[in-house]
Amino acid sequence: MNYETIKIEKMKKSCPACEDYAQKHSTDPPKIAVMACEGACAKGEVARIAANLIAHKLARENTVRICLGGAFTKDMGQRNLVRRADKVIAVEGCFISCSSRMMKGVLPGLFPVIIQADMLYDTDNDEFGIDEFPEEELKEHAREVAETVVREHINNENPEKSGSNVCSQSGNNNSCCACK
Ligand code: SF4
Repeated sequence: MNYETIKIEKMKKSCPACEDYAQKHSTDPPKIAVMACEGACAKGEVARIAANLIAHKLARENTVRICLGGAFTKDMGQRNLVRRADKVIAVEGCFISCSSRMMKGVLPGLFPVIIQADMLYDTDNDEFGIDEFPEEELKEHAREVAETVVREHINNENPEKSGSNVCSQSGNNNSCCACK
């Protein structure tokens, strides 16, 4: 495996809303941490909306939404949510898997369940920008992804945990997980 080494400028300040949110969701037992790649393209947008749907609507009680930028760049509340979670779900827009690679850089030993979102919906549109897609289409794809993740990785009885059973990055339109 090849690596590149980066230096991240440390920040003394923190965002009160972000730290309050992290504190509020630092439950015992820990919630499932849900992060997304947050990419600016349509695939990243689908991943972002899907992660929000999971954590704020479909599985509110047992998941917490991770701010990737906060968790990656600061060793504070957001990173702690990931660190202490028994299970971390990374909704990735594509196979580049940015969120999981980023977080593994700051939390060695982290093995999130990786969901490659673009394998979970059909589209003939291969444009980059979100302006090339109707907003409703992005939302519909995100809902497909979110419902699959909740069904297969949150509400199922599969005792998979990050670090012990890593989901495949790909699948088909019926299943995102080849680890079953
Ligand atoms: S995983 Fe793909 S879509 Fe998401 S930020 Fe990385 S390159 Fe962009």
